[in-house]
Amino acid sequence: MLKGVFSQTTRDHWKLLSTGLPEGGIESLFATEIECVERMEALLWPEGRDCPRCRSKKFWLIKERNLYECANCSHQFSPWSSTPMAKRKVGLKSCMLGAEFLIVTMAAGRTEIQTIQKFAKVTGLSYRPARDLRSSMCEELSKLFGGFWGGMVCVNEMDITHYVEDRLDALRAHYGFDVD
Ligand SMILES: [Zn+2]
Repeated sequence: MLKGVFSQTTRDHWKLLSTGLPEGGIESLFATEIECVERMEALLWPEGRDCPRCRSKKFWLIKERNLYECANCSHQFSPWSSTPMAKRKVGLKSCMLGAEFLIVTMAAGRTEIQTIQKFAKVTGLSYRPARDLRSSMCEELSKLFGGFWGGMVCVNEMDITHYVEDRLDALRAHYGFDVD
């Protein structure tokens, strides 16, 4: 089923993305949801975020609704609106862990272990949300430099000569899934 998505890209694409991942894994750099949100903000607003209405740079985050409220004019807007997270139903950290899993398994050429069950285990999601996320994420990651998700998880400069084969083993050991 996923073959159509993956055939557009070569294994080198995934190896290249893999070299951008944090050495100790996503977990080592982005332990909390807040840290993941900060990562996204840094990507979306490299110059620092500002209010679309008054350009103020002071915000509150209304966590339950995933909205920002401008501290100056009270304008509310979503930080996710321009991203694949616009209609998000799952946490950002789950997504980042999932992206790492997909990149590492693709780079290793082990598409057969990308079952929804394993993806669900890595992301901490139940079956249906895991299935939906995996399919949309594969599409995004197939883009140049992994699109939005590549930007989120690839914190290091990408260099294919730095590809390491044993990342899959580390990931497997961490999450305790089988690769055979
Ligand atoms: Zn404002």
